[in-house]
Amino acid sequence: MKNVCIIGGGAAGLMAAYAASLNGHKVVVFEKNEKLGKKIYITGKGRCNFTNDTSPQEFMENIVRGKKFLTGAIYSFPPQKTIEFFENHGMLVKIERGNRAFPVSDHASDVTKALERAIVSNGVEVRLKEEVQSITTSDKIPMSDIAGKNTFFIDTNSGRYSFDEVVVATGGVSYPTTGSTGDGYKFAKEYGHNVTDLRSGLCGLNLEGAWFKELQGLTLKNVSITVKNNEKLVYDDFGELLFTHFGISGPIVLSASSLINRLPLKNLKITIDLKPALDEETLDKRLLRDFEKYKNKQISNALCELLPQKFISILLSSCGISEKKNVNVLTKEERKQLVKTLKFFPLKIKSLRGFEEAIITSGGIELSEINPKTRESQKIKGLRFCGEVLDVDAFTGGFNLQIAFSTGFAAGNSI
Ligand SMILES: Cc1cc2nc3c(=O)[nH]c(=O)nc-3n(C[C@H](O)[C@H](O)[C@H](O)COP(=O)(O)OP(=O)(O)OC[C@H]3O[C@@H](n4cnc5c(N)ncnc54)[C@H](O)[C@@H]3O)c2cc1C
Repeated sequence: MKNVCIIGGGAAGLMAAYAASLNGHKVVVFEKNEKLGKKIYITGKGRCNFTNDTSPQEFMENIVRGKKFLTGAIYSFPPQKTIEFFENHGMLVKIERGNRAFPVSDHASDVTKALERAIVSNGVEVRLKEEVQSITTSDKIPMSDIAGKNTFFIDTNSGRYSFDEVVVATGGVSYPTTGSTGDGYKFAKEYGHNVTDLRSGLCGLNLEGAWFKELQGLTLKNVSITVKNNEKLVYDDFGELLFTHFGISGPIVLSASSLINRLPLKNLKITIDLKPALDEETLDKRLLRDFEKYKNKQISNALCELLPQKFISILLSSCGISEKKNVNVLTKEERKQLVKTLKFFPLKIKSLRGFEEAIITSGGIELSEINPKTRESQKIKGLRFCGEVLDVDAFTGGFNLQIAFSTGFAAGNSI
């Protein structure tokens, strides 16, 4: 039996604690907050989309960074095992659109309660309001020393403890008020690990200008977005887009942000197709029909069946057409311009939203320095990392929590 320290009582740390305790070890979880799983409470808008009930193959397609590194963990502890885990620990599960898994109660707190039940019944000790300040070891025995063994000293705000094995599950830096303040990066650097550039992932985009402020609160459903980097396609998808006081957000924008957060924004060309179901020719015919119907009206009234009212003046100003212009004097060129702009409405991105609002931290501990099977540091024996602190991230849909569960299970189970 070993003495195991888990730093961080979030999704990854709690699953690591569970797996290590299943193997008969004496496990202590240190959590700096007054309660476990503070971030879990706000996931999925308070409902916690805790995994995606899909095959491991499809799961891998939703990973943005760390696909190869995560393969073993996802195949060994796939979404179905997560669902089974929660059902076995008293939480009823439902599957919604896009295979998204939620607790039947729609309460994210049930996810944390189930994790807590699982670890407490296995004898895991939870130390709340105890922040780990440093991890030290006298010998620094590397992984290559098969027979060697490190003893780790953990200093917290309450005292000093010694352990045989340490799992760092401190999360990233997004939503820092939940406790994810990047402490794990500091611990990793102290043992010679590299931390890749940290960027916001799954976040809104700040746009140039101020025109979008008028559209604040407007959701465009069934639109598509295309992002090109110097004419090379980076992303295109179809769905919902939301205008905000800073620019744009919504599901398709969040996904786009994770793919562009390392690209030079000035090279990017982003366009919205406001009518993706109609090609240019069909859209032109549709405009002709509407213009015939509203031939004695102003153009701003003639577009009311095609677009939300708020968007019409933005579209017309982007085309250089006066809102007051009568439909019957609109030129063919102006109509063609309207079609083009409806299909390729251009946006200029200023920057990505900050970590305070990013759902995920893109970047983290360099994966080549971590054993993909055991999540153990290649530099120091007995030190493991799991969850968002690693350089891994995925799209929305329950994939990020599943990564935390799979890597947490792998880290704990390998002890
Ligand atoms: C608003 C929002 C909504 C989200 N919704 C979803 C969703 O529906 N589905 C999904 O799959 N993903 C979602 N995510 C992402 C998901 O929550 C994270 O990827 C996941 O929680 C990461 O788990 P983790 O255990 O690695 O880190 P965290 O959840 O960040 O946990 C780390 C824990 O470590 C503790 N800690 C840090 N430093 C120390 C220290 N020095 N000493 C002691 N304790 C420490 C922290 O207090 C924290 O409790 C969402 C994220 C946000 C911000």
